[in-house]
Amino acid sequence: MRKIKVMDEALANKIAAGEVVEKCASVVKELVENAIDAESKRIIVNLKDGGLSLIQVIDDGFGMDKDDAVLSFQRHATSKIYNDNDLFFIETLGFRGEALASIASVSEVMMETSQGEVGTLVHLKGGKVLEVKTSSAKKGTSITVTNLFYNTPARLKYLKSEATEASNCIAYLEKLSLSKPNIAFTLTNNDKKVLETHAGGNLLKTIHEIYGLNVSSNMLEVKCQNDDFEIYGYVSKPSILKKNRNHFHIFVNGRIVRNNEINRAINDAYNTYKHEGFYPIVVLNIDTDPTLVDVNIHPTKQDVKFSKIEVLTNLIYTKIKEVLYQNLLIPNAIYEEENNNIKDNFIERKEEIGNEKIVQRSFDFASSEVGEPVKNAEFKNLKLYPVGQVHGTYIIAENEDGMYILDQHAAHERINYEMILKKMQEEKVNIQPLLIPFNMEFTTSNYKIFKEYIPFLESLGFTIEEFGFNTIIIKTHPTWLKKGLEEESMEAIIDLILNMGENFNKDKFIDRMAKMISCKMSVKANEHLSILQMEHLLDDLVKCDNPYNCCHGRPSIMKYSNYDLEKMFKRVM
Ligand code: ZN
Ligand code: ZN
Repeated sequence: MRKIKVMDEALANKIAAGEVVEKCASVVKELVENAIDAESKRIIVNLKDGGLSLIQVIDDGFGMDKDDAVLSFQRHATSKIYNDNDLFFIETLGFRGEALASIASVSEVMMETSQGEVGTLVHLKGGKVLEVKTSSAKKGTSITVTNLFYNTPARLKYLKSEATEASNCIAYLEKLSLSKPNIAFTLTNNDKKVLETHAGGNLLKTIHEIYGLNVSSNMLEVKCQNDDFEIYGYVSKPSILKKNRNHFHIFVNGRIVRNNEINRAINDAYNTYKHEGFYPIVVLNIDTDPTLVDVNIHPTKQDVKFSKIEVLTNLIYTKIKEVLYQNLLIPNAIYEEENNNIKDNFIERKEEIGNEKIVQRSFDFASSEVGEPVKNAEFKNLKLYPVGQVHGTYIIAENEDGMYILDQHAAHERINYEMILKKMQEEKVNIQPLLIPFNMEFTTSNYKIFKEYIPFLESLGFTIEEFGFNTIIIKTHPTWLKKGLEEESMEAIIDLILNMGENFNKDKFIDRMAKMISCKMSVKANEHLSILQMEHLLDDLVKCDNPYNCCHGRPSIMKYSNYDLEKMFKRVM
């Protein structure tokens, strides 16, 4: 039976937008997706010089008979979709039939394929069939691509260095193996193994195989669903962060996707748990009715749109926030430092892969003992006693479990941030009249914009009246605004409104305002505190929902357990 049919021409043109093949990784992608569609359980990718000299994909999938093997190199041959409607379903990965034909037209291809009885070898160069003959009967397909772009020098020029091509292939296969924990992937470059997963279907195990033990032991499970979406995956604790979003792995019905709204929801869920500009490692599988997804908005097939995006982002945001909150711990000073070292090693390893120097992953550090972590709920009953202040900036505290170091500004800022947010949620707004009202002057254009927001600011507790040309007078403010900082704070609030401009969003504004005001009103570094002031600070901090970070994600408290101290001074070995 023929598995391959030639696709309707109009449909072909519709999706042929954008070239399939532009770099080694796109060849790998098309070939591997075909292997997955052939229900392979084990896929081996071999590269020579990052793919520049050779790309080989070997699978154990269902293979093809002789007719299909030849037909598969015709433009628009596909076994996967036959009409327009099917495009909106994403049950197969490589849905554009031109992939093999495109690859074959710009390279030399050897394909051996078999359904288990008799095998076929097809040899092509520049799209022309040079040879078709009987070959090995081993079930599956092996495709070898050499001389990529030999006949299109313009495109050959755009291939990057060996290291870049290799690291693109690695990044792609890492992502793919996370989306398919039930398929075993092996990737080699110049006969050196750079990636290996063992299938079995356990996602955390695959995360371990890709990222190593330090990451996999610091991942939190995320599992939830509603009527439209089912979500399963892992997110990293705020102690494991990367400098870019390349480690957001989002899969919809098993396919790699990209969606900015989802990325934003994840990032927002980490609000105040991490610095801006740092991102967690996230692996999320979203299962949904394919009719809710439109995959075909971008030729690379990764960007998707959802018809119920808000329902989805809410679900993701709420769940991740809950998971983070339930798993917060006081960072252990020693452990944190080790973590950071490991992180650097890991990055180094990734960078060196392209240069063929594979650095062994460190697997043994996690056994290094750390003090018993304190869970969030227990933390609220914790009593910390101040010992003193260092450089007017750090507070040393103690209790029976160990020693704590706090950044006084970060800690105070956290307390004030949560205080302001709580006041905002109270129904009754507490208002403080100003003894001496002050006025503020605007440019005409800014005044026009600002006037729109007066009712909103009044709902927060400010009394604002117009006072002549482009000028307002402020008579009351909410009680949370610190005495002595009224004018400065008001200026900052107005700047924030004007800066947000058309993107003004009430919740975002309140969060940013709370961050800004809490920073202004908190004790600074190089400020002397009495023991009593420190005691208040410690008591207030432990009552916070997230006592471990300032509202910008900087750490506020670190712990040295008694054991850590004994180890440091070799009282125990
Ligand atoms: Zn601050
Ligand atoms: Zn801060």
